[in-house]
Amino acid sequence: MMAIPQSVFHSDAETHLTRSRLHIRILALRDLVRRCVLKQVSPELLTGGVFQISFGMKFEEDGPVPVPETDSASERVIGQLVAIIYNSMIDGTWARFKCCALPTCGWAYYDTTKSRTKRWCSMRTCGARSKARRYYERPR
Ligand SMILES: [Zn+2]
Repeated sequence: MMAIPQSVFHSDAETHLTRSRLHIRILALRDLVRRCVLKQVSPELLTGGVFQISFGMKFEEDGPVPVPETDSASERVIGQLVAIIYNSMIDGTWARFKCCALPTCGWAYYDTTKSRTKRWCSMRTCGARSKARRYYERPR
């Protein structure tokens, strides 16, 4: 995984407006990623116009790394998040990102199980609630 550098904002001139705009775009990216993980939309949307960011390629010891080509710090943040998703799709870890099966939860998680069958973000909270709900809803 690629880490986002501590300081992506190069100058103090970053305005509150820019940060608000970045916040809105990151929320939109989060929503889109969630819909991709839920397989409601194609990951193509990440490249197909929603976040139009050009990438260059940087070669490193672990392999090539996509680098967003933009002068905007905000766009660089979005680009680095998209690059992390890209790397995840390339290295095969993307399929392990899932959304919790409890409809009221909303959390996403990384399935580390060998069988890749994890259904809830946490067995102690959402898993237990889901099982309790099923127990009380079963016909008697
Ligand atoms: Zn959950």
